[in-house]
Amino acid sequence: MDELQKEYDELKALNLNIDMTRGRPSARQLALSERLLNIDFSYTGIDGVDVRNYGLIPGITEARQLMGEILEEDAQNTLVVGSSSLQLMYESVQRAIQYGVRGNVPWQKLNHVKFLCPSPGYDRHFTICEAFNIDMITVKLLETGPDMDTVEKLVAEDPSIKGIWVVPQYQNPTGITFSDETVRRLANMKVAAPDFTIFWDNAYAVHHLYDETENQDHVLDIGKCCREAGNPDRYFKFASLSKVTFPGSAIAAFASSEQNIREAKEHLFAQMIGSDKINQMRHATFLKNKKGVLEHMQKHAVELRPKFETVQEVLQEGLGDVDYASWTNPKGGYFVSFNCKPGTAKRVVEIAEELGVKFTEAGSTYPFCNDPYDQNIRIAPSMPIVEELRQAMRVLVVATKMAAEESENAA
Ligand code: PMP
Repeated sequence: MDELQKEYDELKALNLNIDMTRGRPSARQLALSERLLNIDFSYTGIDGVDVRNYGLIPGITEARQLMGEILEEDAQNTLVVGSSSLQLMYESVQRAIQYGVRGNVPWQKLNHVKFLCPSPGYDRHFTICEAFNIDMITVKLLETGPDMDTVEKLVAEDPSIKGIWVVPQYQNPTGITFSDETVRRLANMKVAAPDFTIFWDNAYAVHHLYDETENQDHVLDIGKCCREAGNPDRYFKFASLSKVTFPGSAIAAFASSEQNIREAKEHLFAQMIGSDKINQMRHATFLKNKKGVLEHMQKHAVELRPKFETVQEVLQEGLGDVDYASWTNPKGGYFVSFNCKPGTAKRVVEIAEELGVKFTEAGSTYPFCNDPYDQNIRIAPSMPIVEELRQAMRVLVVATKMAAEESENAA
């Protein structure tokens, strides 16, 4: 029997049921933050406000300092609101549409609003654009970040390009970190739209897989670069502690220039009377500061590192000598980006599903779920235990080879 078919049959007989669709922390990772649930914390913080009561819409100072440190922004220019950074991104876009940015025309009054979408990228950024009917322009993501020659050309010519989505460190899904040159070019480039804004989603700012600094990536601070370039308002920074403590029940932050924060704050005051200060105080007490967060993240790394290494091991073993397959080898974050033979990604995901392994839908790393090469698949190694992950990667290897063989036979 054909060797590949034999492997397929063997894997099929295992009756696998493994979900690799999203980058969720494993149960063991969640257990690392259990103390947060019954931690003793002071009801009155630096602000002198009882955290159990209404008040402090922009968040308690302790939490603003913590998130400001992570986002490299002053606490007074950091708002801690709710638990989801994605929601803050959505609201920033919505605010721009209804009210405009920095006194410019609200986007709803314009015929076209476009965003640059470096791809492969984070599917939920694209979903926000879809939700608001914002045109998406796919820009190639290189190992250094977005293809800046293309970005610079487009933003200089077209005033309807209002933003760019970026995950600058341990990018989702490639795990790459933008080079210093890329960050400086983003800050310095000439833009046709006065309200052009970089949506700097630093979701993986502290998510290192290795403890030694030489084995970590540290992206340059966009805020500092924008100020140096004379474009101090060009960026919105976002982050959360979703993958530090409990996704959905952590804290999220928006940080930017004084002017941008003033605008955002005005609208917040119309929305609420007080943020969830109890959760903020719990987090600030539990993690203390960035150093505390980094120490906590080392415990996550102990769980994640063997999983990322297993991905590399099995792929190298199964596909190392195959010229059409390639994948990234990140030093942090939550994902590995895998490229199979062009034109076969959808089929690879289909075969994997037959074998009981669910990957994120092929194409989802591109706007409108449309990967022009049909070759990119996002691997999210965090959830399964190592043994399951090993099986899932074996499935990916077999599915990749089978789909490639099928496409050759069809040619
Ligand atoms: N941004 C990126 C790049 C992500 O990968 C994720 C989580 N998958 C989020 C934002 C979502 O963050 P939050 O839980 O704060 O909404």
